[in-house]
Amino acid sequence: MYIDIGEIMTDYKALASLLFPQITKTPDDYEALYPPRNLKEGARVTRFSPSPTGYLHFGHLFTCMAAYLTAKQTNGAFYVRIEDTDQKRKVDGAVEVMLNGLKTYGIINDEGVISDSTQIGDYGPYIQSQRESIYHAYAKDLVEKGLAYPCFCSAEELDEIRAAQDGEPIKGYYGKYAKCRNLTFDEVKAKIDSGSEWTLRLKTPVNTEGKVVFEDLIKGKIEMPENVIDIVLLKANGIPTYHFAHAVDDHLMRTTHVIRGDEWIASMPLHIQLFKMLGFKSVKYAHVSPIMKEENGGKRKLSKRKDPEAAVSYYIEQGFPQESVCEYILTLLNSNFEDWRRANKTAPISEFPFNLKKISVSGALFDMAKLIDVSKNVISQMTSDEVFEKSNEWAKEFCPTLARLYANDEEYAKAVLNIDRGNKKPRKDISKWSDIPDYISYMYDETFKENYELCGNATPSLAIKVLELYKDIVDLNDDKDAWFEKIKSICAPVGCTPNVKEFKQEPDKFEGHVGDVSTIIRVALTGRTNTPDLFAITALLGNERVQKRIDNAIAFYKEEK
Ligand code: GLU
Repeated sequence: MYIDIGEIMTDYKALASLLFPQITKTPDDYEALYPPRNLKEGARVTRFSPSPTGYLHFGHLFTCMAAYLTAKQTNGAFYVRIEDTDQKRKVDGAVEVMLNGLKTYGIINDEGVISDSTQIGDYGPYIQSQRESIYHAYAKDLVEKGLAYPCFCSAEELDEIRAAQDGEPIKGYYGKYAKCRNLTFDEVKAKIDSGSEWTLRLKTPVNTEGKVVFEDLIKGKIEMPENVIDIVLLKANGIPTYHFAHAVDDHLMRTTHVIRGDEWIASMPLHIQLFKMLGFKSVKYAHVSPIMKEENGGKRKLSKRKDPEAAVSYYIEQGFPQESVCEYILTLLNSNFEDWRRANKTAPISEFPFNLKKISVSGALFDMAKLIDVSKNVISQMTSDEVFEKSNEWAKEFCPTLARLYANDEEYAKAVLNIDRGNKKPRKDISKWSDIPDYISYMYDETFKENYELCGNATPSLAIKVLELYKDIVDLNDDKDAWFEKIKSICAPVGCTPNVKEFKQEPDKFEGHVGDVSTIIRVALTGRTNTPDLFAITALLGNERVQKRIDNAIAFYKEEK
Protein backbone atom coordinates (compact mmCIF):
# COMPACT_ATOMS: atom_id res chain seq x y z
CA MET A 1 0.00 0.00 0.00
CA TYR A 2 1.22 3.48 -0.73
CA ILE A 3 0.96 5.97 2.06
CA ASP A 4 1.26 9.58 1.13
CA ILE A 5 3.47 11.82 3.24
CA GLY A 6 2.92 15.40 4.31
CA GLU A 7 -0.51 15.62 2.78
CA ILE A 8 -1.63 19.17 2.18
CA MET A 9 -3.77 19.20 -0.89
CA THR A 10 -7.21 17.71 -0.44
CA ASP A 11 -9.01 18.62 -3.58
CA TYR A 12 -7.26 16.35 -6.05
CA LYS A 13 -10.30 16.28 -8.29
CA ALA A 14 -10.20 20.03 -8.70
CA LEU A 15 -6.47 19.86 -9.37
CA ALA A 16 -6.97 17.18 -12.01
CA SER A 17 -9.57 19.32 -13.79
CA LEU A 18 -7.33 22.33 -13.59
CA LEU A 19 -4.44 20.44 -15.18
CA PHE A 20 -6.43 18.47 -17.74
CA PRO A 21 -9.52 20.51 -18.60
CA GLN A 22 -9.92 18.85 -22.03
CA ILE A 23 -9.72 15.28 -20.85
CA THR A 24 -13.16 13.77 -20.45
CA LYS A 25 -12.40 10.08 -20.89
CA THR A 26 -11.37 8.02 -17.88
CA PRO A 27 -9.24 4.89 -17.57
CA ASP A 28 -12.50 2.94 -17.32
CA ASP A 29 -13.43 4.13 -20.79
CA TYR A 30 -10.14 2.88 -22.15
CA GLU A 31 -10.42 -0.37 -20.25
CA ALA A 32 -13.72 -0.91 -22.04
CA LEU A 33 -12.33 0.18 -25.38
CA TYR A 34 -9.37 -2.19 -25.13
CA PRO A 35 -10.77 -5.19 -23.30
CA PRO A 36 -8.64 -8.21 -22.41
CA ARG A 37 -7.91 -10.25 -25.50
CA ASN A 38 -9.98 -13.22 -26.30
CA LEU A 39 -7.12 -15.69 -26.36
CA LYS A 40 -6.77 -19.25 -25.18
CA GLU A 41 -5.23 -19.97 -21.81
CA GLY A 42 -1.46 -19.77 -22.06
CA ALA A 43 -1.42 -17.56 -25.16
CA ARG A 44 1.27 -14.92 -24.89
CA VAL A 45 1.12 -11.40 -26.21
CA THR A 46 4.50 -9.90 -26.98
CA ARG A 47 5.71 -6.81 -28.71
CA PHE A 48 8.62 -5.08 -30.33
CA SER A 49 8.61 -1.41 -29.48
CA PRO A 50 11.52 0.40 -31.05
CA SER A 51 12.22 4.08 -31.18
CA PRO A 52 12.10 5.07 -34.84
CA THR A 53 15.83 5.60 -35.29
CA GLY A 54 16.03 3.62 -38.53
CA TYR A 55 18.82 1.48 -37.18
CA LEU A 56 18.04 -2.17 -36.57
CA HIS A 57 20.72 -3.80 -34.44
CA PHE A 58 21.37 -7.53 -34.66
CA GLY A 59 20.37 -7.57 -30.98
CA HIS A 60 16.96 -6.15 -31.92
CA LEU A 61 16.46 -8.96 -34.39
CA PHE A 62 17.58 -11.48 -31.79
CA THR A 63 15.22 -10.16 -29.12
CA CYS A 64 12.45 -9.73 -31.61
CA MET A 65 12.79 -13.32 -32.78
CA ALA A 66 12.39 -14.42 -29.17
CA ALA A 67 9.26 -12.27 -28.79
CA TYR A 68 7.87 -13.43 -32.12
CA LEU A 69 8.38 -17.14 -31.44
CA THR A 70 6.96 -16.76 -27.94
CA ALA A 71 3.74 -15.32 -29.36
CA LYS A 72 3.52 -17.66 -32.36
CA GLN A 73 4.10 -20.84 -30.43
CA THR A 74 1.35 -20.07 -27.96
CA ASN A 75 -1.13 -18.82 -30.56
CA GLY A 76 -0.86 -15.42 -29.00
CA ALA A 77 -0.15 -12.13 -30.71
CA PHE A 78 2.97 -10.23 -31.63
CA TYR A 79 2.62 -6.54 -32.32
CA VAL A 80 4.88 -3.62 -33.19
CA ARG A 81 4.53 -0.33 -31.37
CA ILE A 82 6.55 2.74 -32.23
CA GLU A 83 7.94 4.60 -29.25
CA ASP A 84 8.49 8.07 -30.56
CA THR A 85 8.18 10.11 -27.39
CA ASP A 86 11.73 11.29 -27.87
CA GLN A 87 11.27 13.34 -31.00
CA LYS A 88 15.01 14.01 -31.21
CA ARG A 89 15.66 10.36 -32.09
CA LYS A 90 13.03 10.27 -34.81
CA VAL A 91 14.23 9.68 -38.37
CA ASP A 92 11.98 9.95 -41.41
CA GLY A 93 11.17 6.63 -43.05
CA ALA A 94 12.69 4.80 -40.10
CA VAL A 95 9.67 2.66 -39.37
CA GLU A 96 9.60 1.17 -42.83
CA VAL A 97 13.34 0.47 -42.76
CA MET A 98 13.07 -1.29 -39.40
CA LEU A 99 10.00 -3.29 -40.32
CA ASN A 100 11.55 -4.36 -43.62
CA GLY A 101 14.56 -5.55 -41.67
CA LEU A 102 12.30 -7.76 -39.59
CA LYS A 103 10.26 -8.91 -42.55
CA THR A 104 13.40 -10.04 -44.37
CA TYR A 105 13.90 -12.54 -41.57
CA GLY A 106 10.34 -13.73 -41.54
CA ILE A 107 9.18 -11.68 -38.58
CA ILE A 108 5.85 -10.30 -39.65
CA ASN A 109 3.72 -8.74 -36.96
CA ASP A 110 0.04 -9.67 -36.71
CA GLU A 111 -0.78 -6.31 -35.34
CA GLY A 112 0.42 -2.77 -34.85
CA VAL A 113 2.43 -0.63 -37.18
CA ILE A 114 2.99 -2.37 -40.50
CA SER A 115 4.34 0.53 -42.55
CA ASP A 116 5.04 4.23 -42.17
CA SER A 117 1.40 4.94 -42.88
CA THR A 118 -0.48 1.78 -41.91
CA GLN A 119 -1.52 0.21 -38.64
CA ILE A 120 -3.71 -2.81 -38.06
CA GLY A 121 -5.35 -4.23 -34.94
CA ASP A 122 -7.92 -3.34 -32.28
CA TYR A 123 -5.53 -2.01 -29.68
CA GLY A 124 -4.18 1.01 -31.55
CA PRO A 125 -3.07 3.53 -32.30
CA TYR A 126 0.29 1.85 -32.02
CA ILE A 127 2.38 4.98 -32.34
CA GLN A 128 2.92 6.72 -29.03
CA SER A 129 2.71 10.24 -30.45
CA GLN A 130 -0.86 9.40 -31.49
CA ARG A 131 -1.87 8.33 -28.00
CA GLU A 132 -1.48 11.53 -26.07
CA SER A 133 -5.11 11.80 -24.94
CA ILE A 134 -4.91 8.24 -23.57
CA TYR A 135 -1.82 9.04 -21.50
CA HIS A 136 -3.48 12.22 -20.28
CA ALA A 137 -6.55 10.32 -19.11
CA TYR A 138 -4.35 8.06 -16.99
CA ALA A 139 -2.31 11.03 -15.81
CA LYS A 140 -5.47 12.86 -14.81
CA ASP A 141 -6.63 9.80 -12.94
CA LEU A 142 -3.35 9.63 -11.02
CA VAL A 143 -3.74 13.30 -10.06
CA GLU A 144 -7.31 12.67 -8.91
CA LYS A 145 -6.01 9.91 -6.68
CA GLY A 146 -3.27 12.10 -5.27
CA LEU A 147 -0.60 9.98 -6.96
CA ALA A 148 0.81 12.63 -9.29
CA TYR A 149 1.40 16.36 -9.09
CA PRO A 150 2.53 19.24 -11.25
CA CYS A 151 6.09 20.44 -10.83
CA PHE A 152 7.06 23.97 -11.77
CA CYS A 153 10.78 23.71 -11.10
CA SER A 154 12.96 25.22 -13.78
CA ALA A 155 16.11 23.55 -15.09
CA GLU A 156 18.15 25.87 -12.86
CA GLU A 157 16.16 24.93 -9.77
CA LEU A 158 16.65 21.26 -10.56
CA ASP A 159 20.40 21.91 -10.87
CA GLU A 160 20.37 23.60 -7.47
CA ILE A 161 18.61 20.63 -5.93
CA ARG A 162 21.19 18.32 -7.39
CA ALA A 163 24.00 20.51 -6.10
CA ALA A 164 22.49 20.42 -2.61
CA GLN A 165 22.48 16.61 -2.64
CA ASP A 166 26.22 16.15 -2.31
CA GLY A 167 26.76 13.19 -0.04
CA GLU A 168 23.17 11.95 -0.30
CA PRO A 169 23.09 8.27 -1.25
CA ILE A 170 20.09 8.88 -3.48
CA LYS A 171 20.07 11.82 -5.82
CA GLY A 172 17.12 13.31 -7.66
CA TYR A 173 13.70 14.81 -7.12
CA TYR A 174 12.17 13.11 -4.09
CA GLY A 175 11.14 13.50 -0.48
CA LYS A 176 12.20 16.78 1.03
CA TYR A 177 13.90 17.80 -2.24
CA ALA A 178 10.64 17.56 -4.12
CA LYS A 179 9.71 21.21 -3.77
CA CYS A 180 6.46 21.07 -5.67
CA ARG A 181 5.17 17.89 -4.09
CA ASN A 182 3.13 19.63 -1.47
CA LEU A 183 1.97 22.79 -3.18
CA THR A 184 -1.57 23.79 -2.28
CA PHE A 185 -4.29 23.95 -4.87
CA ASP A 186 -4.20 27.75 -4.74
CA GLU A 187 -0.45 27.83 -5.23
CA VAL A 188 -0.73 25.57 -8.23
CA LYS A 189 -3.59 27.58 -9.65
CA ALA A 190 -1.72 30.87 -9.25
CA LYS A 191 1.29 29.45 -11.09
CA ILE A 192 -0.82 28.04 -13.88
CA ASP A 193 -2.79 31.29 -14.21
CA SER A 194 0.46 33.18 -14.54
CA GLY A 195 1.42 30.87 -17.42
CA SER A 196 4.12 28.85 -15.66
CA GLU A 197 5.11 25.64 -17.42
CA TRP A 198 4.75 22.40 -15.53
CA THR A 199 5.68 18.79 -15.79
CA LEU A 200 3.69 16.04 -14.13
CA ARG A 201 5.52 13.95 -11.57
CA LEU A 202 4.69 10.70 -9.87
CA LYS A 203 4.10 11.14 -6.16
CA THR A 204 6.28 8.26 -5.21
CA PRO A 205 5.82 6.71 -1.78
CA VAL A 206 9.09 7.31 -0.02
CA ASN A 207 10.68 4.27 1.42
CA THR A 208 14.42 4.46 1.02
CA GLU A 209 14.85 1.06 2.68
CA GLY A 210 12.32 -0.70 0.47
CA LYS A 211 13.19 -3.54 -1.89
CA VAL A 212 11.53 -4.86 -5.01
CA VAL A 213 11.88 -8.47 -5.94
CA PHE A 214 10.83 -9.85 -9.27
CA GLU A 215 11.32 -12.99 -11.28
CA ASP A 216 12.92 -12.37 -14.63
CA LEU A 217 12.21 -15.22 -17.04
CA ILE A 218 15.80 -15.22 -18.28
CA LYS A 219 17.82 -13.91 -15.35
CA GLY A 220 15.84 -15.41 -12.49
CA LYS A 221 15.06 -13.68 -9.22
CA ILE A 222 16.26 -10.08 -9.03
CA GLU A 223 16.18 -7.89 -5.96
CA MET A 224 16.66 -4.14 -6.21
CA PRO A 225 16.07 -1.06 -4.08
CA GLU A 226 12.64 0.47 -4.53
CA ASN A 227 12.31 3.62 -6.59
CA VAL A 228 11.89 6.75 -4.47
CA ILE A 229 12.27 9.38 -7.18
CA ASP A 230 9.25 11.40 -8.22
CA ILE A 231 9.88 10.74 -11.87
CA VAL A 232 8.42 12.86 -14.63
CA LEU A 233 5.36 11.29 -16.25
CA LEU A 234 4.52 14.11 -18.64
CA LYS A 235 6.98 16.62 -19.98
CA ALA A 236 6.13 20.34 -20.16
CA ASN A 237 4.86 19.88 -23.71
CA GLY A 238 2.44 17.19 -22.55
CA ILE A 239 4.43 14.37 -24.12
CA PRO A 240 4.80 11.38 -21.79
CA THR A 241 8.13 9.94 -20.81
CA TYR A 242 8.95 6.46 -22.08
CA HIS A 243 8.40 5.00 -18.60
CA PHE A 244 4.86 6.27 -18.29
CA ALA A 245 3.85 5.71 -21.90
CA HIS A 246 5.12 2.16 -22.10
CA ALA A 247 3.33 1.16 -18.90
CA VAL A 248 0.01 2.48 -20.19
CA ASP A 249 0.61 0.87 -23.57
CA ASP A 250 1.75 -2.52 -22.38
CA HIS A 251 -1.32 -2.63 -20.19
CA LEU A 252 -3.89 -1.40 -22.70
CA MET A 253 -2.45 -3.47 -25.52
CA ARG A 254 -2.82 -6.41 -23.20
CA THR A 255 0.80 -7.47 -23.35
CA THR A 256 1.56 -10.55 -21.28
CA HIS A 257 5.34 -10.83 -21.76
CA VAL A 258 7.74 -7.93 -22.12
CA ILE A 259 10.87 -9.21 -23.87
CA ARG A 260 13.47 -6.50 -24.20
CA GLY A 261 17.10 -5.53 -23.77
CA ASP A 262 18.52 -5.78 -20.26
CA GLU A 263 19.45 -2.09 -20.22
CA TRP A 264 15.89 -1.71 -18.88
CA ILE A 265 16.51 -3.77 -15.76
CA ALA A 266 17.73 -0.63 -14.01
CA SER A 267 14.25 0.84 -14.55
CA MET A 268 12.39 -2.19 -13.23
CA PRO A 269 11.74 -0.80 -9.75
CA LEU A 270 10.08 2.18 -11.37
CA HIS A 271 8.16 0.11 -13.90
CA ILE A 272 6.84 -2.26 -11.26
CA GLN A 273 5.85 0.71 -9.14
CA LEU A 274 4.12 2.44 -12.05
CA PHE A 275 2.12 -0.66 -12.86
CA LYS A 276 1.01 -0.88 -9.23
CA MET A 277 0.15 2.78 -8.87
CA LEU A 278 -1.78 2.72 -12.14
CA GLY A 279 -3.66 -0.33 -10.91
CA PHE A 280 -2.44 -2.53 -13.76
CA LYS A 281 -2.06 -6.27 -13.60
CA SER A 282 1.65 -7.02 -13.69
CA VAL A 283 3.23 -8.52 -16.79
CA LYS A 284 6.05 -11.01 -17.07
CA TYR A 285 9.51 -9.81 -17.99
CA ALA A 286 12.35 -11.40 -19.92
CA HIS A 287 15.41 -9.19 -20.13
CA VAL A 288 17.81 -10.21 -22.86
CA SER A 289 21.54 -9.66 -22.38
CA PRO A 290 23.39 -7.91 -25.18
CA ILE A 291 24.99 -9.97 -27.93
CA MET A 292 28.70 -10.30 -27.21
CA LYS A 293 31.71 -10.61 -29.43
CA GLU A 294 35.12 -12.06 -28.69
CA GLU A 295 38.02 -9.68 -29.02
CA ASN A 296 41.64 -10.00 -27.96
CA GLY A 297 40.82 -12.93 -25.73
CA GLY A 298 38.09 -10.99 -23.94
CA LYS A 299 34.43 -10.29 -24.59
CA ARG A 300 32.62 -7.08 -25.40
CA LYS A 301 29.21 -6.01 -26.67
CA LEU A 302 28.55 -6.21 -30.39
CA SER A 303 28.83 -2.54 -31.14
CA LYS A 304 26.98 -0.34 -33.56
CA ARG A 305 30.02 1.90 -33.77
CA LYS A 306 32.73 -0.73 -34.18
CA ASP A 307 31.11 -3.72 -35.89
CA PRO A 308 29.48 -3.57 -39.31
CA GLU A 309 27.81 -6.90 -38.49
CA ALA A 310 25.93 -5.22 -35.64
CA ALA A 311 23.53 -3.79 -38.22
CA VAL A 312 20.83 -6.06 -39.61
CA SER A 313 21.27 -4.25 -42.93
CA TYR A 314 24.74 -5.80 -43.15
CA TYR A 315 23.30 -9.30 -43.57
CA ILE A 316 20.88 -8.07 -46.17
CA GLU A 317 23.58 -6.26 -48.14
CA GLN A 318 25.93 -9.23 -47.94
CA GLY A 319 23.16 -11.52 -49.10
CA PHE A 320 22.93 -13.94 -46.21
CA PRO A 321 19.72 -15.81 -46.94
CA GLN A 322 16.88 -15.27 -44.53
CA GLU A 323 16.90 -18.96 -43.63
CA SER A 324 20.58 -18.88 -42.64
CA VAL A 325 20.29 -15.86 -40.39
CA CYS A 326 17.18 -17.31 -38.74
CA GLU A 327 18.88 -20.66 -38.19
CA TYR A 328 21.88 -18.92 -36.74
CA ILE A 329 19.79 -16.75 -34.43
CA LEU A 330 18.07 -19.88 -33.17
CA THR A 331 21.43 -21.47 -32.37
CA LEU A 332 22.22 -18.36 -30.35
CA LEU A 333 18.83 -18.19 -28.65
CA ASN A 334 18.55 -21.79 -27.47
CA SER A 335 21.60 -24.01 -27.18
CA ASN A 336 19.52 -27.15 -27.79
CA PHE A 337 18.46 -25.90 -31.23
CA GLU A 338 21.34 -27.60 -33.01
CA ASP A 339 20.48 -31.01 -31.57
CA TRP A 340 16.87 -30.45 -32.56
CA ARG A 341 17.96 -29.46 -36.05
CA ARG A 342 20.05 -32.62 -36.44
CA ALA A 343 17.02 -34.69 -35.53
CA ASN A 344 14.59 -32.59 -37.60
CA LYS A 345 16.57 -31.72 -40.69
CA THR A 346 13.83 -30.22 -42.80
CA ALA A 347 11.32 -29.05 -40.18
CA PRO A 348 10.43 -25.34 -40.20
CA ILE A 349 11.88 -23.30 -37.34
CA SER A 350 8.37 -22.65 -36.06
CA GLU A 351 8.23 -26.27 -34.92
CA PHE A 352 11.24 -25.90 -32.65
CA PRO A 353 10.06 -25.85 -29.00
CA PHE A 354 11.56 -22.45 -28.28
CA ASN A 355 12.04 -21.61 -24.63
CA LEU A 356 12.60 -18.08 -23.34
CA LYS A 357 14.18 -19.49 -20.21
CA LYS A 358 17.02 -21.01 -22.20
CA ILE A 359 18.30 -17.67 -23.47
CA SER A 360 21.85 -17.01 -22.29
CA VAL A 361 22.09 -15.01 -19.09
CA SER A 362 25.60 -13.79 -19.83
CA GLY A 363 24.90 -12.76 -23.42
CA ALA A 364 24.99 -14.88 -26.56
CA LEU A 365 28.35 -14.87 -28.27
CA PHE A 366 28.26 -13.74 -31.88
CA ASP A 367 30.54 -15.78 -34.13
CA MET A 368 30.76 -14.91 -37.82
CA ALA A 369 32.54 -18.18 -38.66
CA LYS A 370 29.61 -20.08 -37.19
CA LEU A 371 27.08 -18.04 -39.13
CA ILE A 372 29.04 -18.71 -42.32
CA ASP A 373 29.08 -22.40 -41.51
CA VAL A 374 25.36 -22.52 -40.82
CA SER A 375 24.68 -20.57 -43.96
CA LYS A 376 26.83 -22.80 -46.19
CA ASN A 377 24.87 -25.71 -44.92
CA VAL A 378 21.54 -24.02 -45.56
CA ILE A 379 22.53 -22.97 -49.09
CA SER A 380 23.93 -26.40 -49.90
CA GLN A 381 20.46 -27.85 -49.31
CA MET A 382 18.76 -25.46 -51.74
CA THR A 383 17.96 -26.37 -55.34
CA SER A 384 19.75 -24.44 -58.05
CA ASP A 385 16.46 -22.75 -58.92
CA GLU A 386 16.16 -21.52 -55.35
CA VAL A 387 19.75 -20.32 -55.28
CA PHE A 388 19.20 -18.60 -58.60
CA GLU A 389 15.96 -16.87 -57.60
CA LYS A 390 17.17 -15.70 -54.21
CA SER A 391 20.57 -14.55 -55.36
CA ASN A 392 19.04 -12.85 -58.38
CA GLU A 393 16.73 -10.88 -56.09
CA TRP A 394 19.74 -9.85 -54.04
CA ALA A 395 21.85 -9.07 -57.13
CA LYS A 396 19.20 -6.80 -58.61
CA GLU A 397 19.57 -4.60 -55.56
CA PHE A 398 23.18 -5.01 -54.54
CA CYS A 399 25.23 -6.45 -57.42
CA PRO A 400 24.24 -5.24 -60.89
CA THR A 401 27.13 -7.11 -62.52
CA LEU A 402 25.83 -10.44 -61.29
CA ALA A 403 22.27 -9.51 -62.21
CA ARG A 404 23.48 -8.74 -65.74
CA LEU A 405 25.39 -12.02 -66.09
CA TYR A 406 22.31 -13.87 -64.90
CA ALA A 407 20.01 -11.99 -67.25
CA ASN A 408 22.14 -12.86 -70.30
CA ASP A 409 21.27 -16.53 -69.95
CA GLU A 410 19.22 -17.67 -66.98
CA GLU A 411 19.33 -21.33 -67.93
CA TYR A 412 23.11 -21.29 -68.14
CA ALA A 413 23.30 -19.56 -64.75
CA LYS A 414 21.05 -22.16 -63.18
CA ALA A 415 23.13 -24.95 -64.71
CA VAL A 416 26.30 -23.37 -63.29
CA LEU A 417 24.69 -23.13 -59.85
CA ASN A 418 23.53 -26.71 -60.19
CA ILE A 419 27.06 -28.14 -60.36
CA ASP A 420 27.52 -30.57 -57.46
CA ARG A 421 24.09 -29.73 -56.09
CA GLY A 422 21.33 -32.15 -55.25
CA ASN A 423 23.65 -35.06 -54.50
CA LYS A 424 24.30 -36.75 -51.18
CA LYS A 425 27.25 -34.59 -50.27
CA PRO A 426 26.62 -31.20 -51.80
CA ARG A 427 29.56 -28.81 -51.75
CA LYS A 428 29.48 -25.93 -49.34
CA ASP A 429 31.17 -23.15 -51.24
CA ILE A 430 28.57 -20.41 -50.90
CA SER A 431 27.78 -18.81 -47.56
CA LYS A 432 26.09 -15.68 -48.90
CA TRP A 433 24.97 -14.34 -52.25
CA SER A 434 27.91 -11.97 -52.42
CA ASP A 435 30.16 -15.07 -52.66
CA ILE A 436 28.56 -16.02 -55.95
CA PRO A 437 30.27 -13.56 -58.33
CA ASP A 438 33.64 -14.96 -57.34
CA TYR A 439 32.41 -18.54 -57.11
CA ILE A 440 31.12 -18.58 -60.69
CA SER A 441 33.60 -16.09 -62.17
CA TYR A 442 35.44 -18.64 -64.33
CA MET A 443 32.20 -19.75 -65.91
CA TYR A 444 31.94 -16.40 -67.68
CA ASP A 445 34.54 -14.95 -70.03
CA GLU A 446 33.74 -11.46 -68.70
CA THR A 447 34.87 -12.42 -65.22
CA PHE A 448 37.30 -15.30 -65.75
CA LYS A 449 40.73 -14.43 -64.38
CA GLU A 450 43.63 -16.41 -65.78
CA ASN A 451 45.87 -17.81 -63.10
CA TYR A 452 48.25 -20.58 -64.00
CA GLU A 453 49.78 -21.28 -60.65
CA LEU A 454 50.09 -25.03 -60.10
CA CYS A 455 50.33 -27.18 -57.00
CA GLY A 456 51.29 -30.72 -56.03
CA ASN A 457 53.63 -32.37 -58.51
CA ALA A 458 52.42 -30.31 -61.43
CA THR A 459 55.09 -28.24 -63.15
CA PRO A 460 54.88 -26.02 -66.21
CA SER A 461 56.68 -28.59 -68.40
CA LEU A 462 54.33 -31.35 -67.28
CA ALA A 463 51.41 -28.99 -67.83
CA ILE A 464 52.39 -28.38 -71.45
CA LYS A 465 52.52 -32.11 -72.15
CA VAL A 466 49.21 -32.81 -70.40
CA LEU A 467 47.34 -29.96 -72.01
CA GLU A 468 48.58 -30.73 -75.49
CA LEU A 469 47.28 -34.27 -75.18
CA TYR A 470 44.03 -33.29 -73.46
CA LYS A 471 43.26 -30.66 -76.07
CA ASP A 472 43.10 -33.32 -78.75
CA ILE A 473 41.10 -35.92 -76.90
CA VAL A 474 38.61 -33.88 -74.90
CA ASP A 475 35.18 -34.53 -76.37
CA LEU A 476 32.16 -32.84 -74.89
CA ASN A 477 29.94 -35.67 -76.04
CA ASP A 478 31.66 -38.07 -73.66
CA ASP A 479 29.92 -39.05 -70.48
CA LYS A 480 31.69 -38.57 -67.17
CA ASP A 481 33.24 -42.03 -67.09
CA ALA A 482 34.55 -41.83 -70.64
CA TRP A 483 35.90 -38.36 -69.93
CA PHE A 484 37.74 -39.57 -66.86
CA GLU A 485 39.11 -42.60 -68.68
CA LYS A 486 40.62 -40.18 -71.17
CA ILE A 487 42.26 -38.18 -68.39
CA LYS A 488 43.70 -41.40 -67.03
CA SER A 489 44.91 -42.31 -70.48
CA ILE A 490 47.02 -39.16 -70.56
CA CYS A 491 48.94 -40.24 -67.48
CA ALA A 492 51.33 -42.85 -68.89
CA PRO A 493 52.43 -40.86 -71.96
CA VAL A 494 53.43 -37.92 -69.73
CA GLY A 495 55.24 -40.09 -67.16
CA CYS A 496 52.49 -40.05 -64.55
CA THR A 497 50.45 -42.87 -63.09
CA PRO A 498 46.66 -43.08 -63.08
CA ASN A 499 46.98 -44.76 -59.70
CA VAL A 500 47.56 -42.46 -56.73
CA LYS A 501 48.46 -45.39 -54.46
CA GLU A 502 51.12 -46.51 -56.87
CA PHE A 503 52.57 -43.02 -56.94
CA LYS A 504 52.70 -42.92 -53.15
CA GLN A 505 54.57 -46.21 -53.02
CA GLU A 506 57.16 -45.18 -55.59
CA PRO A 507 57.08 -41.44 -56.04
CA ASP A 508 60.47 -41.31 -57.70
CA LYS A 509 59.27 -43.44 -60.55
CA PHE A 510 56.68 -40.91 -61.74
CA GLU A 511 56.31 -37.26 -62.60
CA GLY A 512 53.00 -37.21 -60.80
CA HIS A 513 49.63 -38.97 -60.68
CA VAL A 514 46.17 -38.60 -62.10
CA GLY A 515 45.34 -35.93 -59.49
CA ASP A 516 48.15 -33.78 -60.82
CA VAL A 517 46.94 -34.27 -64.36
CA SER A 518 43.45 -33.16 -63.34
CA THR A 519 44.86 -30.18 -61.48
CA ILE A 520 46.66 -29.02 -64.60
CA ILE A 521 43.43 -29.20 -66.60
CA ARG A 522 41.46 -27.58 -63.81
CA VAL A 523 43.88 -24.68 -63.50
CA ALA A 524 43.88 -24.11 -67.24
CA LEU A 525 40.08 -24.05 -67.42
CA THR A 526 39.24 -22.22 -64.21
CA GLY A 527 42.34 -20.50 -62.85
CA ARG A 528 41.89 -22.47 -59.62
CA THR A 529 43.22 -25.60 -58.00
CA ASN A 530 39.97 -26.35 -56.22
CA THR A 531 36.58 -26.29 -57.93
CA PRO A 532 33.40 -28.31 -58.03
CA ASP A 533 33.05 -31.14 -60.53
CA LEU A 534 35.49 -30.52 -63.39
CA PHE A 535 33.52 -32.65 -65.80
CA ALA A 536 30.39 -30.53 -65.30
CA ILE A 537 32.46 -27.36 -65.63
CA THR A 538 34.02 -28.59 -68.88
CA ALA A 539 30.66 -29.55 -70.31
CA LEU A 540 29.13 -26.18 -69.48
CA LEU A 541 32.06 -24.17 -70.77
CA GLY A 542 31.65 -25.82 -74.16
CA ASN A 543 34.20 -26.82 -76.71
CA GLU A 544 35.18 -23.41 -77.94
CA ARG A 545 36.02 -21.98 -74.54
CA VAL A 546 37.72 -25.18 -73.42
CA GLN A 547 40.01 -25.15 -76.45
CA LYS A 548 40.74 -21.45 -76.09
CA ARG A 549 41.59 -21.65 -72.41
CA ILE A 550 43.86 -24.66 -72.98
CA ASP A 551 45.66 -22.84 -75.79
CA ASN A 552 46.18 -19.82 -73.57
CA ALA A 553 47.51 -21.97 -70.77
CA ILE A 554 49.94 -23.81 -73.06
CA ALA A 555 51.17 -20.46 -74.40
CA PHE A 556 51.67 -19.19 -70.87
CA TYR A 557 53.65 -22.21 -69.68
CA LYS A 558 55.77 -22.22 -72.83
CA GLU A 559 56.69 -18.63 -72.26
CA GLU A 560 57.47 -19.32 -68.64
CA LYS A 561 59.82 -22.19 -69.43
N1 GLU B 1 11.63 1.95 -27.02
C1 GLU B 1 12.51 1.21 -26.20
C2 GLU B 1 13.84 1.07 -26.90
O1 GLU B 1 13.94 1.38 -28.08
C3 GLU B 1 11.93 -0.18 -25.95
C4 GLU B 1 11.90 -0.53 -24.52
C5 GLU B 1 10.94 -1.67 -24.23
O2 GLU B 1 10.90 -2.62 -25.03
O3 GLU B 1 10.24 -1.61 -23.22
O4 GLU B 1 14.80 0.69 -26.31
